[in-house]
Amino acid sequence: MAEQVLAAVRTAPGTTELREFPMPDIPDDGALLKVEVAGICGTDVKMYGKPPFPDPVIMGHENVGVIARAGRTFTARKGLAEGDRVFVEHYVGCFRCAWCHQGEYRHCEATDWRTNPDARRYGYTSAEKPYHLWGGFAQYLYVPWNAVTHRVPDGVSPELAGLVTPLSNGIEWALVTAGVGYAGTVLIQGPGQQGLSQVVACKQAGAALVVVTGTTRDAARLELAKQLGADHVIDVSQEDPLTRVRELTGGRGVDVVLDCTAGAGTAPVLLGIDALKRREGTMVVQGELAAFPDFPLKKLTEKAISLKSARGHSYRSCELALEQLASGRFPLERLATHTFGLAETDRAIRTVAGELDAGGGAGAVHVSLLPWAGTA
Ligand SMILES: [Zn+2]
Ligand SMILES: [Zn+2]
Repeated sequence: MAEQVLAAVRTAPGTTELREFPMPDIPDDGALLKVEVAGICGTDVKMYGKPPFPDPVIMGHENVGVIARAGRTFTARKGLAEGDRVFVEHYVGCFRCAWCHQGEYRHCEATDWRTNPDARRYGYTSAEKPYHLWGGFAQYLYVPWNAVTHRVPDGVSPELAGLVTPLSNGIEWALVTAGVGYAGTVLIQGPGQQGLSQVVACKQAGAALVVVTGTTRDAARLELAKQLGADHVIDVSQEDPLTRVRELTGGRGVDVVLDCTAGAGTAPVLLGIDALKRREGTMVVQGELAAFPDFPLKKLTEKAISLKSARGHSYRSCELALEQLASGRFPLERLATHTFGLAETDRAIRTVAGELDAGGGAGAVHVSLLPWAGTA
């Protein structure tokens, strides 16, 4: 009998089934990754509750593992051989367009499921498409030649490498998109894995003041923010964040606001506009709101604020994230709070959603699925 691969498949909104797929026959320019860690983030929560596709999908878009099988052409092209540990970006680029040539695979249409029904992207591709294994919530992942791979440095464990996605997003959004640098002042709203990653990115870049907001529910995460280098934290359920930001900046306001809140409505954006300095501040938003009634555009333009979009990461940000993890300079391992096996995929996603008691009073920060946990 052919070898079988166990996978957690999303079969309907909020529903996961364990299924077996035949081990694919890989082409000469492809490979198979034995998945060690698949990170779960807020995007998974959204995709699980309201899938954008009707087909069965193996979710899991933040994947780390070891090359288990590699075709000859794959090895020649990618410089990767069996046994190498890699982080695989979720984008599967075309490698022909200008974006791909710049390492900006996130903008390539070949990987954009929103505009291209035949797009390939890990965690967002039907399991009915050839090779089937298009998500990390499975024992193996199919890796074509045009997947974007990064070698994991020696000394970085698979669990730590599982943080590359949030950390690369933090580097991309804080440093590249918002331009945080030496002596900069920053307000980070929301102490989840993205917000905490941005604390590290900002400190590493030389920011003079990093302030993080959260609610009383986030007490443990705010404590973690301090351990990662935040200069001040604000519990917005206990004190007025605008007054506090003004106090902390001598009335000037901050250079940059990074909105890393999820589902917090319009309040963080409105606070951000007010908390920015008098002119030429920058705010990066994730834009979950389909509509924003009474958006204060006048105030935005009067303050000459640049409003920018947080959208994924570049090749370079992933490399920088791996270097940051390898350096051990910040206790980033403290972000990795929870692990689950494949059979617990539903529970793992619901833990990220905050639907289940995450245990220990700390709440979940970064949750990983370990597809081989509990197996021989
Ligand atoms: Zn993610
Ligand atoms: Zn492309």
